Amino acid sequence: MNTKMSEISANILSGKPIAEAIKTEVAKEVKQLEAEHGFRPALTVVRVGEDKASEVYVGSKVRTSKELGIISEQKHLPAETSQEELLEIVRELNLDNEIDGILVQLPLPKHIDENLILETIDPEKDVDGFHAMNVGFLSQGRDSLVPCTPAGVIEILKRSGIEIAGKHAVIVGRSNIVGKPMAQLLLQENATVTICHSRTRDLPEVTKLGDILVAAIGRAGFIRGEHIKPGAVVIDVGINNFSDSGAAPGMFGEDELENRLRTIEKRGATLVGDVNPKDAKEIAGSFTPVPGGVGLLTVAMLMKNTVKAAKMRRLKKI
Ligand code: NDP
Repeated sequence: MNTKMSEISANILSGKPIAEAIKTEVAKEVKQLEAEHGFRPALTVVRVGEDKASEVYVGSKVRTSKELGIISEQKHLPAETSQEELLEIVRELNLDNEIDGILVQLPLPKHIDENLILETIDPEKDVDGFHAMNVGFLSQGRDSLVPCTPAGVIEILKRSGIEIAGKHAVIVGRSNIVGKPMAQLLLQENATVTICHSRTRDLPEVTKLGDILVAAIGRAGFIRGEHIKPGAVVIDVGINNFSDSGAAPGMFGEDELENRLRTIEKRGATLVGDVNPKDAKEIAGSFTPVPGGVGLLTVAMLMKNTVKAAKMRRLKKI
């Protein structure tokens, strides 16, 4: 590493103040809807089986809803629930006039067709934005319910004063949940967009073109210094467990190494993104940390989507 590089320290784009600001705005809007229109938005989250991570995510979604005044309930169904039973529950929620948002937490048990379930959710109540109709609206640049994580990335960029228009945005990952909707949203913001994936040839050559680089890969610390254009804005969507204390000095800078090693020792692993934070700190202009970055925005954007769904369905406006 060259000494000059190591002196450069990127600006950290913390998700916390942005998520808090969005939640404050949502709580205010919920109060206003109740005062002016006599209803509070309502969200139902359906969870099937005992996936540990899902339990944590759903708990946080329901808890945050309640904090903001959104009426929220969790329907927790046993792992043996049949596809037909789950479809019936979704259909009932579709017909329930008091429910504004329906979220079926993924992954579902293997015997259930996830796409079939997602396509059965009323698009007007599809607060995850995964229904083909909402995906279509997004690709046409029409207003729609947009997937929460990429929508959160746009909020981070905008509220941090980062200009998107005219920039070259490179996304690594093409999933329906993150990569593809991320590309559509950045395109809507007038970025020039490139999408990379596992078959992209000479990845560093392509990612190095990115003024904005979004990593949504699912591999701990995969994006290294060689992938990052000096001064770029690096957005790390990844959430991975990292437990290799021997490799930790290559992953974390001296400022956080000790803390991270302590966490690995205590809990068996520490959370890292898809970007090597040590390299990002040295080469990027700014980057989102993990934890404490994009992850915090996902729930906040779900809250925002729930209010949006309620307003679109009940008041026919956004
Ligand atoms: P997927 O596994 O669905 O997609 C991963 C993508 O990365 C694929 O498009 C894949 O390419 C690409 N990829 C894999 N290996 C490589 C490689 N060697 N080179 C280039 N591209 C590669 O993951 P998700 O999109 O669902 O999630 C991505 C990450 O974001 C995960 O860490 C996940 O935990 C996290 N996440 C975080 C959220 C949050 O709230 N912050 C929400 C959702 C996800 P290909 O298509 O060719 O296989």
